Amino acid sequence: MACPKNRLMVVVMSFDLGKVYSYIDEQAEAFVKDLVKLVKQPSVSAKGEGIVECAKLVEEMMRDAGLSTKILTGQKGNPVVYGEVKSKSSRKTLLFYDHYDVQPPEPLEKWKYDPFSGKIAEGKIYGRGVTDNKGNFVSRLKAVHGFLEVFGDLPVNVKFFVEGEEEIGSPNLEPIVKAHKCLLSADAAIWEFGGTDRHGRPELYLGLKGVLSVELRAKGALKDVHSANAPLIPNPAWRLVWALNALKSKDEKILIKDFYENVRSSLPEETECLKNIPFEDEEMRKELGIKYFLKGVSGLEALKALLFQPTCTINGLISGYTGKGSKTVLPHEAMVKLDFRLVPDQKPEEIFEKLVCHLKTCGFEDLEIIKYGSTEPAKTPINDPFVVLVAEAAEKVYGKKAVIYPLSAGSGPMHLFRNFLGYPIVSAGCGGPESNTHAPNENLEIEGFIKGTKFIATLISDFAE
Ligand SMILES: [Zn+2]
Repeated sequence: MACPKNRLMVVVMSFDLGKVYSYIDEQAEAFVKDLVKLVKQPSVSAKGEGIVECAKLVEEMMRDAGLSTKILTGQKGNPVVYGEVKSKSSRKTLLFYDHYDVQPPEPLEKWKYDPFSGKIAEGKIYGRGVTDNKGNFVSRLKAVHGFLEVFGDLPVNVKFFVEGEEEIGSPNLEPIVKAHKCLLSADAAIWEFGGTDRHGRPELYLGLKGVLSVELRAKGALKDVHSANAPLIPNPAWRLVWALNALKSKDEKILIKDFYENVRSSLPEETECLKNIPFEDEEMRKELGIKYFLKGVSGLEALKALLFQPTCTINGLISGYTGKGSKTVLPHEAMVKLDFRLVPDQKPEEIFEKLVCHLKTCGFEDLEIIKYGSTEPAKTPINDPFVVLVAEAAEKVYGKKAVIYPLSAGSGPMHLFRNFLGYPIVSAGCGGPESNTHAPNENLEIEGFIKGTKFIATLISDFAE
């Protein structure tokens, strides 16, 4: 069924962006204060800490900015805060995807200031979640607020979808998005993250890799036995090692039958735009203390592998005695955790089926295979008009050409919006190269936050035209 359209009579109205910029400058201090307030409210989804309180605060902030709000809940999981404003002068809709949950702040001793203090120092706001993703959310909300304060209207309809489980992999999001197809319909969306690089250039991301997490368990005798019995008793640790050998070869090729079947090769224009991405591969190797990347790649080739290559990674494996000294034991169980990073158009369900089938064909039908979370990859084509529009808006505000990442090496629930709801999505935000997201001393430069607010205002204005 088609979603009902906004039937309002369109009133022609002109929006002077300069007036919104002035409002943003005048109100900068108040915006910072509001962001600090949100940062002070802990919202650690991994521990279920402060979630309900934070969702309430987000809803209050949306109402204060002039949005009408709604709480969306599923059978389980943290609430999603939804907000919207209908334009009197446009039928176009822009959606913002954000999240109010944050990563755990640990290790606490590495922080200069309390992670939930919202301390302002050196022109920055410090705190867990200030960039990822509370700063981005507030900058978007304040841009919308600016239009409403100055004109009492917006150039386009605006929707906010602010979830509370992004940092734990959005495990309960799919049914919520699928149950609210019309509510979440839009013409385009801005995703949660982004910022500027070391040279002050805005960075835009057009997609995310998918991910599939699994666990393999090999079982032997009913209990650990003396290793003197090794000529007779099967060793699950060896079973697991052999099974892993069947998954990937030494030259980094994933051996699962038809694993690469649906990998869409990158377009020439996507490869071309990699040349503009400042990839500091030498610094990365130095920081990690490794001499070479896998297969000896470097520069552009390394960046291409990072963004476009699917992977099979051993996250951890355990079996038998791993304590001090030695113990001559034959373990009864062995376990490995793996993740697969997937690229368009691989599907996690298909990859899981292929994995099960491959292990069976290779003689490992005795392994227990457990599927954990998964997300599909998602990508907006680089030549989509919305990408061009966002890049132009960014260039106007930052004075530098945007750096476009056709795909990001990370993962997230973008596919629900891109693949299911079907609109173009660009990720762009107000973070900086030293924001320390997910790490101690996460911070956001106040200047970057205000500029990011102007960028969103510009985007809203350009999107209407
Ligand atoms: Zn994050």
